[in-house]
Amino acid sequence: MYPWIDLVHKQLQDSFSQNRFHHAQLVHGLTGVGKSELVRNLSEDLLCINSTNMLSSCGQCKSCLLLRAQNHPDLLYLAGESSSIGVDEVRALNEFVFHSAQQGGNKVVVIEQIEKMTESAANALLKTLEEPAPKRYILMTCNDLSKVKATVLSRCNQVQVAILDKTVSQQWLDSKGITSQEFVWAERFCKQPLLLEAWANQGVISEVDELWKVAHDITSVVDINTLESTLSKDASLHAVFVRFLIEVFKQQLAAGQINFMQFHNCSKQMEKYMSDHHKILGINKTLSLSNLVFGIQRVLKQD
Ligand SMILES: [Zn+2]
Repeated sequence: MYPWIDLVHKQLQDSFSQNRFHHAQLVHGLTGVGKSELVRNLSEDLLCINSTNMLSSCGQCKSCLLLRAQNHPDLLYLAGESSSIGVDEVRALNEFVFHSAQQGGNKVVVIEQIEKMTESAANALLKTLEEPAPKRYILMTCNDLSKVKATVLSRCNQVQVAILDKTVSQQWLDSKGITSQEFVWAERFCKQPLLLEAWANQGVISEVDELWKVAHDITSVVDINTLESTLSKDASLHAVFVRFLIEVFKQQLAAGQINFMQFHNCSKQMEKYMSDHHKILGINKTLSLSNLVFGIQRVLKQD
């Protein structure tokens, strides 16, 4: 497990051995901080036959082996890979929780990125969250709490995963051979080390660097096709590009190089770009990107 998660895991273990462990745990924090890892560990702990009241897993029992083979009948995993989690998936979840456990122990549901739940899906989940059956646990991750319904939030125990000491994650990255010091932008992602690790594994560090350069030179001629091909290398890159742009505009606003209206209008262009990407299936990416870049250029040329 990642060193910065150990403490949170320990606190949850304590709450379990003291019978305070909530049946619905909502793990939230930035992308790339290790929320899924924590939830995976907790589901192993809850399903392990030798766990007793310690909330830990042995790695050797039948349950642990089934989990390792990704074939445990008492674990339901909603990955949130599509753009939303719908009501049908939640109904299947409710059904799953209702039936008895095949291995005779706990049953665990994992919902990744609960902010992707549609309104009706969230409503369908409320009853299960509110009236927990014994030995049933719902583990959720969330990148953005502001997008989760208050009625859902109030029925969960919220667990924050964050990196408070950047030297811990820096050491971890160094141990993985991911030295990021050569790039000026890398320090910004010290609190999201798994994002850096994923980029290194996928060989897209130079693409991130390219986006950084384009963002800092957004008013000059931008080759949309090249930019689009850079962005298409990894799903996380759109948000990173927008993050770089926001940073540039904030600096320019502070330095008096752009006025507040320009900042505001650029922000609107970026919001539209991101929301189109989340909402529109089969979006015309070239058109959407052209609209963003040329829209920003138009705003910045006004005085
Ligand atoms: Zn075990």
